[in-house]
Amino acid sequence: MFFNRIRSKFSFSQDMAVDLGTTNTLVYVKGRGILLNEPSVVAITETEDGTKKEILAVGFEAKTMVGKTPGTIRAIRPLRDGVIADFEIAEEMIKHFIRKVHNRRSFISPIIVICVPSGATPVERRAIQESAEAAGARRAYLIEEPVAAAIGAGLPISEAKASMIVDIGGGTTEVAILSLGGIVYANSVRVGGDKIDRSIVEFMKDKYNLLLGEASAEMLKKEHGSAIPTRSMNGQHFHVKGRSLTDGIPKQIKIDKIQLCEGMSGPINTIIECIKVALENTDPELAADIIDTGIVITGGGAMLKNLDTHIKKVTGLPVSIAEDPLNTVVLGCGKCLDDIDKLKSLLHSAY
Ligand code: ADP
Ligand code: MG
Repeated sequence: MFFNRIRSKFSFSQDMAVDLGTTNTLVYVKGRGILLNEPSVVAITETEDGTKKEILAVGFEAKTMVGKTPGTIRAIRPLRDGVIADFEIAEEMIKHFIRKVHNRRSFISPIIVICVPSGATPVERRAIQESAEAAGARRAYLIEEPVAAAIGAGLPISEAKASMIVDIGGGTTEVAILSLGGIVYANSVRVGGDKIDRSIVEFMKDKYNLLLGEASAEMLKKEHGSAIPTRSMNGQHFHVKGRSLTDGIPKQIKIDKIQLCEGMSGPINTIIECIKVALENTDPELAADIIDTGIVITGGGAMLKNLDTHIKKVTGLPVSIAEDPLNTVVLGCGKCLDDIDKLKSLLHSAY
C-alpha cells in the first residue's frame, strides 16, 4: 500500500491512446503527446504450405519491404479493409506498437484507450482489447472510432445538438451522427483512399495502357487528384512514368487532369452515397441540427482536393475539414484519457 503510493507519486504515467487505423497506427501518451505514427503493416515469411508464419518487421520497416520482397516475404496490412484479416498478425502488430512506446522503466502498467471501427464485430473487439492487455495494459478500454474522431475534431458531442462526422481512412469511410455523447446513427463502407488508388491504377491501364503500382497511384492522387473537375484544370496535364502494357517497356505518358478526376469518381461516389444515406435516415429533429452544425470531414481522405466542396454541393450543407485530419482520432482518444473521469461513459469493454 505504502509502496504503491510512492510509486504513483514518482513514476511517470504511461497511459496511452491508440488509433488503430487501416493505413496508419498512432499512439498518444498522456502528458507527452503523439509518440508513435507508423504504417499498419507487418512483414512476414511463410512456409510454402502457408502454415507457419514468422514476423520479420512491423511499421515503417515493414513498409519499406512492400514490393521489394523476395517470394517468401510478404507485407501484410492486417486491417486493410476495416476487418481483421489475420487475427494473429493484427495482435502481434498491436502488441509491437504498444511495447515500443511503453517505457518499461515505469513501475505502473498503463491504462490504454484503443479505438475500434463502429462496424467491428464482437470477436474483433475482443481480439483488439486482448492484444492491448497482453501488451501490458493494466486496463484496456475501447472507444468507438467516430466518437473519438468527433472529440478530436472538437465537436460538441455531449450537447443535445446533433453533429455529423465523416472519417475517410485508407480502407474504410465511417459516417456517424452524434448527440448527447452517443452515436445516434453510424454507417461505414469499405471504401476509402485505397480504393481511390486502385481505381487510378485501373484507369491508367484502361485509358493509357500503362501499368502503375498502387504507391505511385497514391502519389498521383495526392498531387494531382481532385474529387471533382474544376474550371482551372481545363487543359492541364502532368506526366506519369510506368510500364507500357503493349510492349512492356517503361514509358512516360502525358495525362489530362480532368480525365484523372473521372478515373477516381467511382469510389468517391460511394463515399458521397454513404453520406446521403446517413442524412436520409436521420430523424428530422437531428437533421435540423445538422443544417446548422454542418458536416466535419476527417481522416487522410479528407485532404483530397475539392472533396469538401463536392460534399457541400451534393448535400447543400456546410462542410469543414478537421484541423489535423491524420491525427484527429488519436487526439480524440487522448482527450478521453486526459479526462477519463468525465468521459468514462464513452469508454467500454468488449467483455
Ligand atoms: P486510417 O485511419 O484508415 O489508417 P488515415 O486517416 O491515416 O487512414 O488516411 C490514410 C489515407 O489518406 C490513405 O488512403 C492516403 O492515401 C490518404 N491521404 C493522405 N493524404 C492525402 C492527401 N493529401 N490527399 C488525398 N488523400 C490523402
Ligand atoms: Mg482512421
